[in-house]
Amino acid sequence: MTIKKEPITTSIFELFKVGPGPSSSHTIGPMKAAKSFLDICNSLPTETISSAKSIDVNLYGSLSATGKGHGTDRAVLAGLLNWTPETTDPKEFLNLLIDQNINYKIQIGEKTIQFNSSNIHFHKGKFDFPHPNTLTFQIKNENNLLHEEEYYSIGGGFIIRKGDSTEQNQKSPKYPYSSMEDVKGILEKEKISLIELILENEKSISGLSEVEINQKMDSILQFMHSAVERGIIEDGVLPGSIKLHRKAKYLYSQAVEHKNKQEGFLMFLNAYCEAASEENAAGHIVVTAPTSGASGVIPGITYLLKKHFEYDQKNIREGMMVAALIGFLVKHNASISGAEMGCMGEIGTASAMSASMLSYCAGHSVNVIEAAAEIAIEHHLGMTCDPIGGYVQIPCIERNAMGSVKAYNAYLLACSGNQAYQKISLDSVIKVMKATGDDMSKKYKETSEAGLALSATEC
Ligand code: SF4
Repeated sequence: MTIKKEPITTSIFELFKVGPGPSSSHTIGPMKAAKSFLDICNSLPTETISSAKSIDVNLYGSLSATGKGHGTDRAVLAGLLNWTPETTDPKEFLNLLIDQNINYKIQIGEKTIQFNSSNIHFHKGKFDFPHPNTLTFQIKNENNLLHEEEYYSIGGGFIIRKGDSTEQNQKSPKYPYSSMEDVKGILEKEKISLIELILENEKSISGLSEVEINQKMDSILQFMHSAVERGIIEDGVLPGSIKLHRKAKYLYSQAVEHKNKQEGFLMFLNAYCEAASEENAAGHIVVTAPTSGASGVIPGITYLLKKHFEYDQKNIREGMMVAALIGFLVKHNASISGAEMGCMGEIGTASAMSASMLSYCAGHSVNVIEAAAEIAIEHHLGMTCDPIGGYVQIPCIERNAMGSVKAYNAYLLACSGNQAYQKISLDSVIKVMKATGDDMSKKYKETSEAGLALSATEC
């Protein structure tokens, strides 16, 4: 097994995406796939579309196992209705399919096609597709299939359409890299800083100017912090059959009460991470970081840095860019999908991204940044994904708080040691993550067929 040699061409804003919870692979990805299918149908010949009578959506693997709890049915409908994750109103989104008998109107050019819940098929059991999160779309007339597309939701809201060789962008980065070793080599050779490398690559991949990149980063941070601020005042029960009561508001009030005590700082961190994560579980607007399931870790930590330790906006913004680079490396060389890597791919990656961000924001070297990310991943290896009832709630919400604490400690461990003693590189631990994820039983990869999900069912 070797680190992939193709350069990373992912944009920061593909990794950090605004959209409704609760799951990037089960909600945002399927919504984008459905919208893509709608766009393809719109490009089909008018005579083909004029005879169309129905559209069917088939969900396989993890999408069929936990898609109900993750809102995949609402997501594919939203995409077919031409909604996009960034512009979706979470209230309208949550109202979709509340009544299973409602007929929705899918518009393709002049043609209107009726669509309801019976057109969405959850295919449980074995299947033979190349990715555990597979969905297909079919448009039919009375007797025949007119057109079909197959998509893979590969984690973090990224999708690949069958036949497309890669999800990569057309544009090439100024400084191509595919591993941390490459990154350090470029910095050495070009005599540039890590932020210069990230910014130059983002400019060449996204076509944005530095000013525009900074503005978009600030907007992303604002969305993240809005989720925290909503979550610490919201109360009540989260959607779904397990009737989980929100806790962040209580955690926050406890933190305020104990703010001068030894544990005060950790209590605030817990409250902030759980607040954003509860907002995700509620289906409200969050930012994938790198996924929706892990969308509480970075918002919680950056909120803490801003509100309690008065880090300035530029420092946090740049720390987020460093975090993105770590996310790219994991996505490129392992996976950020719970359906492929278990929770180490989601919370483990978010924790590593956060540990590197903390190290950067505190002014440490690239070696410390790398060590912090490595330590955070190392101590998430083997972490399973077994959400109870298929809802992104237990263990997910607390796991965001735990991932942030591990990130903080990984940063402290990395910056308080001599990096010459660091035995394991970031590239090595990402290889181990990939191998561990490949070996992990699918029962522990976002199917809710074992572990906590099963124990709770038995109870
Ligand atoms: S257990 Fe982890 S990977 Fe699985 S849904 Fe929850 S947050 Fe995502």
